Amino acid sequence: MGNTINKPRGTNDILGINKKKHDELVSQLDSMAMLYGCEKIEVPTFEESKLFKRGVGESTDIVNKETFDLVNKGEHDYTLRPEFTAGINRSIIENKLYATPDLPIKLCYYGSIFRYERPQVGRFREFHQWGVEFIDQKVDLLTTISCLSLFFNQVKKILNINPVLKVNFLGSFASREQYKIALKNFFIPHIQDMCGDCRRRLEQNPLRILDCKVEDDRKIIIDAPKVTDFLSEEDKEEYQEILNALNALEIPYITDDKLVRGLDYYTGLVFEIYDNDHLELGALGGGGKYGKLMSVLGGPDFEGIGYSFGVERLVLAKKDDKTLPYDLDLFIIALKKDGLDGVLKTAFGLRELGYKVSSASMSKALNGSIKMADRKNASFVLIADDRGYHLKNMKTREQIDGDTIESLNIVKHLEER
Ligand code: AMP
Repeated sequence: MGNTINKPRGTNDILGINKKKHDELVSQLDSMAMLYGCEKIEVPTFEESKLFKRGVGESTDIVNKETFDLVNKGEHDYTLRPEFTAGINRSIIENKLYATPDLPIKLCYYGSIFRYERPQVGRFREFHQWGVEFIDQKVDLLTTISCLSLFFNQVKKILNINPVLKVNFLGSFASREQYKIALKNFFIPHIQDMCGDCRRRLEQNPLRILDCKVEDDRKIIIDAPKVTDFLSEEDKEEYQEILNALNALEIPYITDDKLVRGLDYYTGLVFEIYDNDHLELGALGGGGKYGKLMSVLGGPDFEGIGYSFGVERLVLAKKDDKTLPYDLDLFIIALKKDGLDGVLKTAFGLRELGYKVSSASMSKALNGSIKMADRKNASFVLIADDRGYHLKNMKTREQIDGDTIESLNIVKHLEER
């Protein structure tokens, strides 16, 4: 082999069992979302750069230093999507989806995300997000709790783990502005001792300092003013109603007044979910309510609430289901050409009935082919050799023999498993 080419840093080839787990998880997330009345949406992988500058916020890390910007072609600057919310809200505005009497709009999505981050465990430069956006003129308590309970149940039931749900409430724009001033005043005397990112954030958006992961900075952050002390009476009431509803539904949560999220346009409730046994993976997913995103993007004054999961992290966190179904119902080992028509007909007939059937190369020896059937996680093996036909149950290792394929009653055995 000549010179080979490797994948770019921070990207993944999703292969074999991993691809299977990934796809199964996405399909389980979809199915649960359907129980909540969600419809699927797909938006472009790249958008005009200004969409993310406006929709995510120029002071965020995502837009500030993590976007993959495409080489200019023609009049427009394009960026590979670093998140979905801005693109989906753009699509809702452009396609006037909001002009419906049937509110809230409930959408779910899945696809690749691109962020120029430093790769590490569970952190990639291209990864996949699955998420939802619920949009309404005013996102009410029912919609908020539907969104949160879907978020929580997807992690708990699909991953089969004990999740930790963290919530915080950022308040309206007016109260946020007050809070930002208080934060700035608090950090000014400390800022020389803090990291470069924090120094930049102090001017651009002091709220983001709360998100800093640098150990020494966190010691300072711990004493910073709390956002909940700056909430209006109305905000406090809304937050309390949400917490009451979570209590009533017995959805466990912890409040974390330092939780802030990547987008500038979050207002009100924000939330994240973690795997208690694998905190090193970081957040499995997160989201929140955004009050002004639609209007910032030139649409109507609607609100939204949404979240996204990192699918690769969910795959890492998922506890394996021990009763994984078989990958193949029947694996064919045909050791002679004679009678191959009958074998092929049987295979086609079973596929028509919805059974999964595959086969080994004819040149492969019997022992090797049986090992292959095990590796392929087949339920039964059909062997055609000079002595006739044999059906082997790969779990019990029992084998029955016959002169014809019909005499083996393959369908009956598959049904009775
Ligand atoms: P965010 O949009 O930053 O809130 O991310 C939502 C979710 O996407 C996170 O909770 C992670 O599960 C996942 N995620 C974010 N960044 C990455 C990354 N660089 N690599 C893999 N997953 C990520």
